[in-house]
Amino acid sequence: MAYEKIKPLIDRQLDDIRKAGLYKNERVLLGPQGGTIRVATHCNQGAMGSPPVINLCANNYLGLANHPAVVEAAAQAVRTHGYGMASVRFICGTQDLHKELERAISDFLDTEDTILYSSCFDANTGLFETLLGEEDAVLSDALNHASVIDGVRLCKAQRYRYGHGDMADLEKGLQQTAGRRIRLIATDGVFSMDGDFAPLDRIVELAERYGALVMVDDSHATGFIGATGRGTPEAFGVSGKVDLITSTLGKAVGGGTGGFTSGRRELIELLRQRSRPYLFSNAIPPMIAAAGLKALALIDQGGELRARLQENAAFLRKELEQQGFQVKPGRHPIMPVMLGDAALASKMADRLLEEGVYVIGFSYPVVPKGEARIRVQVSAAHTRDDLAKAAKAFHTVGRELAIIA
Ligand SMILES: *Cc1c(COP(=O)(O)O)cnc(C)c1O
Repeated sequence: MAYEKIKPLIDRQLDDIRKAGLYKNERVLLGPQGGTIRVATHCNQGAMGSPPVINLCANNYLGLANHPAVVEAAAQAVRTHGYGMASVRFICGTQDLHKELERAISDFLDTEDTILYSSCFDANTGLFETLLGEEDAVLSDALNHASVIDGVRLCKAQRYRYGHGDMADLEKGLQQTAGRRIRLIATDGVFSMDGDFAPLDRIVELAERYGALVMVDDSHATGFIGATGRGTPEAFGVSGKVDLITSTLGKAVGGGTGGFTSGRRELIELLRQRSRPYLFSNAIPPMIAAAGLKALALIDQGGELRARLQENAAFLRKELEQQGFQVKPGRHPIMPVMLGDAALASKMADRLLEEGVYVIGFSYPVVPKGEARIRVQVSAAHTRDDLAKAAKAFHTVGRELAIIA
């Protein structure tokens, strides 16, 4: 039996993960995603549910993940368009809803065309190898999302990894790759662990000076960053100057599933012909397309939701700072509460849950060694009362663990 020889190798890896304190246990939610949730707990009698806890770790920025209009759009579409497509897009997996959603995304982002994927992870892994060959180069921020890193790994272009947000290093890379046919700068718009922004205005300026293209993964921005939620290109005043935007429907835009690449017409056309996750993976279900359309419509009229999100984030940030927590400075609803020690971060998360606040401690290798943290994410779905309660729980646990005075 081959597996008997292999099993100890796997067991050892699992043990190593446990010993390093890196084993991820998944908490079970009982009911829909939202500003408050119920999670499964265990007692002598078996599984049971917690009282509602305030959820500070979802990417549900605008609270659309369980919005009645989004739920209703999905429910209607499953009746009018059926459950699944059982096909990739180019065989028989394209419905009117898929085309409508692609058009709606292009209209929203003011781009020429859009191609849907099952996820933004797929959008990123299907991008670079399709557009870039051996004669080309890709310049990638050191802290880009795993899916951008994997996408870059799949392509044969020369790679230059520039220091995080380091424009001098990016310029050096552009000089070093001067002989290449196509050069593509790839960056997250917002970096998920710190909630910091890529300096898109300066990136676009360098790209123009050196004749390079720009790709932005705007997953943590689409729908709520920028005056009208168009994302980081809007926030930095460079809309129309970014050649390609990848993003997800799995965060602010309904939080279901699905992703896309949007941008220059011919680039999208080539992706439709050659991108492997598009050609060899199923079309997104019609209800997801319909719910995405509804979410985008809500976002288009979503000034109030965005304002509430910003106010909520500012309120909790100020509360935590005033209590003496070390919150990484920034203006994104991601606010990392820095603790340093991994065990402390994990202990703090456990105690906060007991106090009715659901957060997760992040530690190495997800963040650098010695930079363990609680990553707080605020949503428009939170009420002021939720956030005041959360602040009180941070105060209680912070003092108990001697993090604040
Ligand atoms: C969440 C995220 C993704 C993955 O999106 P999915 O649609 O869930 O695959 C990709 N890139 C970035 C920057 C993200 O934050």
